[in-house]
This record gives sequence, structure tokens and C-alpha cells, in this order.
Amino acid sequence: MIAPYKLHRHGYQMLHCFMMSFLKKMAEMVEQGKPFQEKVFHPDFLPIALAHKTKIYKRCERIYHAYAAMNEHDRKVLADRVSKSMDVEAVCKGNVMPVHKKEVPQPLFELVKKTFEDLYKDILRGREASAFVKNYGHIRKHFEEFFTKNNSSTLCPFCGVSPVNTEEMMEYDHYLPKSIYPLYAVNLKNLVPTCKVCNQTYKKAKDVIKGASGRIFYPFDQTLTGVDIVFHMSHPVLELCQWTVDLKSREGLSQELESWKWIYGIEKRYVSQAKDNSSKVWGIFMETVHYARLENPELTLDQIKSVFQITIRAMQHSDYNMLLKPTFDALCQESHLLQALRESQEYTKV
Ligand SMILES: [Zn+2]
Repeated sequence: MIAPYKLHRHGYQMLHCFMMSFLKKMAEMVEQGKPFQEKVFHPDFLPIALAHKTKIYKRCERIYHAYAAMNEHDRKVLADRVSKSMDVEAVCKGNVMPVHKKEVPQPLFELVKKTFEDLYKDILRGREASAFVKNYGHIRKHFEEFFTKNNSSTLCPFCGVSPVNTEEMMEYDHYLPKSIYPLYAVNLKNLVPTCKVCNQTYKKAKDVIKGASGRIFYPFDQTLTGVDIVFHMSHPVLELCQWTVDLKSREGLSQELESWKWIYGIEKRYVSQAKDNSSKVWGIFMETVHYARLENPELTLDQIKSVFQITIRAMQHSDYNMLLKPTFDALCQESHLLQALRESQEYTKV
């Protein structure tokens, strides 16, 4: 992860809280042998559940019956797993495993998945006038406020190279995918704006926990400071070389780093960018040398190089520039270009 997001608290987290409260109350009532009744809902949630009768009330009723149909032992195991695994940060850090679809009987899982998917799609993102939105606010408002709070960059913090589309509203990614971990589908801590490439080309519905190392970067972890990127060239001649990249978490989070590389196809994307950008970045450097020398013929190549490295590192907020500095460093150290330039200038001086 290139940079963490700041978490923006918002009323719509209440939908997650109400659903967790429903699940807890349901488990209690089923164990007491009680039939489904309105008091399974939090008093503040009941009018909303009734207003969205098909999408909330009736679905919860079906969940209740499907859960009650399980045997007592399995119910207790499941209820315990749910109550102990709702902290997204603890899940990301590998301290607790999220409730996986394989832990839930299939008919119940499908029902829960459909319910939470619809809560996200139709209740949170639904019509402005929906009962929930009236009380707790629209996700669009959250999106706007989220970007006001995270205004330092519009680049996607997961790849650092493509812009998050803030014009086309509400491009949230379910970090723990809702098709496998539906219970996190309306949890604010699991909804993160990403670029389309990260979301739709690479991550898609990958099982980010079981498919990877079991640990992933928590997107709101303010202690994260980024990743060191070092490119290597297999051959000193640009046209003949293959690029590779070494990536290192600055906090030493190697498992999180491996998951991140796998989830977002980072190495492949970065190497492809370095290859495409190498001629461009060298061209800009040559131009810089030319103009710097016109202003001050006494400047050495190394002095110009140092200034140029600082300049391109500061240009991180436009497309792909985060990779320009490491690309340039590799060109200086591993290609013949800098040496050739140095020699040609020595020759000119003579
Ligand atoms: Zn991205």
C-alpha cells in the first residue's frame, strides 16, 4: 500500500451496526426458542426495516428461520465466530480470520450474501428518499467528505499510479470482497475508493485473505509510510533489457507486501510502466541538462542529476510520476546512458 486513507466517520455506518445487532439478538432469541418477532430489530432500526420490507424485514425473517434450522452446536460456533471477527483492522492484520463462506451452510450463506449485497446496492446507494438515507445520510455525501478529508492526492493509494475517479461518484471497493465475506459489505472500514485498474482488472473478487498470505495492509493504518521501489535492468542497453522491481515495506510488513503484490498485480504493472517511461524520463533529463547548462555552464552533471531527482520525486501527484524517480535511478546506475553522457561532455570540453 502506497499511502493509508484517513477514516471518515459517517452516519451510514449505522446500517452495519444495526445488522450486527440483529444477528446478535437473533442468536439469543433462537437459543431461547422464540419465534421471529419485531423486537429482533434495534428500536431505531425497526421503522427502517419495515419501510424496506422486502429488502430488510422479510430477508431478515428468512435468515432467522435458516439460522434456527441449524443444529445447536453449529449455531453456537457460527455466532461465536461472527461476534469475534467483525473488526476489519484485526482481520487485515491477521489477528482474526473473517467468517468465510465455507463456514456457513450454503442456503444461509446465499441468503446473507444477497441481503448484504442489496443493503449496499439499494439501501446505501439507493434513492435519496429511502428511509435509511433520510435518517443517516447518503453514501454520495460520504464520498465527497471522504475526499475532502483525504485531499493530499487523488492517486489510488493501492497502486499509487492511477487516479481514483472522483468525478464518477462512489467507486468504492469492498476490500474484503462481498461475494466471500458478505458480513463486511456495509462496514465503512471495508469500503475504500480505488482506481478502476486496481478494482476491476486486478483485484476483482479475489479471496484477499485465504488466497494470499493471510495478512493484508489495513487501508486506514496511519502508521503506514509506503513502499520502497527499486528497479533493475537486466542489460545496460535500454532496447535489450528486461526490467524487474524490488519492493520493500518501510515497516517491514513482508506478508502484507506479498499479498498486496498479488492482489493488485503490482510488479507486472510497475515493470511495464518503467519500461514505457524509461525513454521519456531520460529525454526529460537530457532537456534539463541542456537548459541548466545554458543558465550556468559551470554546473556539473552530478549537480544537475541531484536537482532532477528531487524534482521528479516531488512530482508524485500526476499519473505514474511516483515511478519516474526509481526508473531514473535505475537508468543512472545500471544503463550506459549516464556514462555515455559524461564521456560525450568530457569530449566536448576537450
Ligand atoms: Zn489503483
